[in-house]
Amino acid sequence: MFLKKQGVKLKTPIEIEKMRNAGKVVGEILNDLSEIIRPGITTKDIDIFSEKCIRLSKMKPAFLGIIGRSYPFPATTCVSVNNEVVHGIPNSLKVLEYGDLVSVDIGVVCEGYYGDAAKTYVVGSCVSETAVRLIKIAELSLHEGISQILPGKKLGDVSSAIQRTVETNGFSVVRDFVGHGIGVSLHEEPQIPNFGEANTGIKLIPGMVLAIEPMVNVGDYQVCTESDGWTVTTKDGSLSAHFEHTIAVTENGYEILTKV
Ligand code: MG
Repeated sequence: MFLKKQGVKLKTPIEIEKMRNAGKVVGEILNDLSEIIRPGITTKDIDIFSEKCIRLSKMKPAFLGIIGRSYPFPATTCVSVNNEVVHGIPNSLKVLEYGDLVSVDIGVVCEGYYGDAAKTYVVGSCVSETAVRLIKIAELSLHEGISQILPGKKLGDVSSAIQRTVETNGFSVVRDFVGHGIGVSLHEEPQIPNFGEANTGIKLIPGMVLAIEPMVNVGDYQVCTESDGWTVTTKDGSLSAHFEHTIAVTENGYEILTKV
């Protein structure tokens, strides 16, 4: 049986070890993709590379076949370009161009335990100043959120640190999609909004494992889902960036399981 505290399944050190193994593969692929992503490749190439790495590790893709609103997700990775926020479907006809922003989200299952992380890359070197700043602030907001993690702190401390970092820099955080607990399922309790009030919400306890994932827009925070049933885009067409890590709450703070 799982020990549940405040509705959240706590993980044992053995379970966290499996999540660390899954997270390591996710982190390594995201690192390797910075060498792979360049003008001329397609978003499907990113998916093929990632799936090959996961299978070589004898693990399984976590997103492939996951149930959505209309049909199961058809790929290993979510690849979202420019105004696409999350859940972009890799496509062999979608060619990356100089200056594009591309967010890659990868989930891996190791012996039934999940790891989940995302990173946004620039394609080539010719990219606008706003795009560079967007990526910088989105990644910073993730780390500002993570830095709040300590037993006794509350989930709202994480959410509010992310929101403050994003908004004081003139960008907006997506409200309709949130981070999540993770473990024997990709999505567990609690939900982790990227906005909120400090000193509110559940208390952080060692053994909780959280996937924190700010989605940051240049313009308004509102998003919509495209006709493919999966791809989420900004309503105003502005650029968006996405960063995510899977993090275990420890006795002294935290451990990022998807960092290598
Ligand atoms: Mg996630």
